[in-house]
Amino acid sequence: MRFDVLTIFPDLFVSPLREGILHRALAESRIRVELHNIRDFATDRHRMTDDRPFGGGEGMVMKPEPLAACLDAVRRLDDEPGQVILLSPRGRRYDQEQARRLAGLRRLILICGRYEGVDERFTRRYVDEEISIGDYILSGGELAAMVLIDSITRLLPGVLGCAESAANDTFSHGLLKHHQYTRPREFRGMSVPGELLSGDHARIGEYRFVESVRLTLERRPDLLRKVRFDGHQWRLLQRAGLSERIREVRHGG
Ligand code: SAH
Repeated sequence: MRFDVLTIFPDLFVSPLREGILHRALAESRIRVELHNIRDFATDRHRMTDDRPFGGGEGMVMKPEPLAACLDAVRRLDDEPGQVILLSPRGRRYDQEQARRLAGLRRLILICGRYEGVDERFTRRYVDEEISIGDYILSGGELAAMVLIDSITRLLPGVLGCAESAANDTFSHGLLKHHQYTRPREFRGMSVPGELLSGDHARIGEYRFVESVRLTLERRPDLLRKVRFDGHQWRLLQRAGLSERIREVRHGG
């Protein structure tokens, strides 16, 4: 997967790409991240990338020409045209399903806004989709772009050491992940749930499944509307006394 990032602050990406899973994915060439400074494509004397908004109002707006010139040049760097994504609080809300969809593409071109945002004419002409990482305002699209790069990279084949770990992450089955414990068995008077110590893998799997549903019911009942359970799972949930509450959540408003 190739990521091209258009930003006026490329240095912001340096350290996140230098550590952990992203670093390894880069080193193993599973991803490629190219940073492009929009300012290099500003042609005026002061290399301005922003200007005052028509119609007045506070703040500055990113000028369309440097963005378009930068995008034209970036596009030419690869035969794959790529999906052009503008990070924007007005975009479609990002989630794991979106991450999976984007992980299936070969090239993403991520455009990071700053100030009050981007001239709408640039967006209308060149942007395929606008994505928001949540209902809050960041100072720029860089952190949001990193969120996309990180969450998508985790889903690419071979990136995670253990294939299991992405498959069982929170949201991968539409549920929150069960609680987790490691050594020691006894910590400041608190012990580990006995089922996890039983060594019986089938029983542990069932226990974790039920706990996962219980946690989702408590914290994010909205997620349960979309999850499908098979017959065996329904029986487990019935036995745990959760099936009624799940039905309520699903049929309630
Ligand atoms: N005045 C704008 C917000 C500008 S924030 C408004 O009210 O809509 C500046 C830039 O930060 C945006 O152009 C966008 O690229 C980025 N940004 C801010 N919040 C974001 C979010 N929740 N998701 C993705 N990008 C965001």
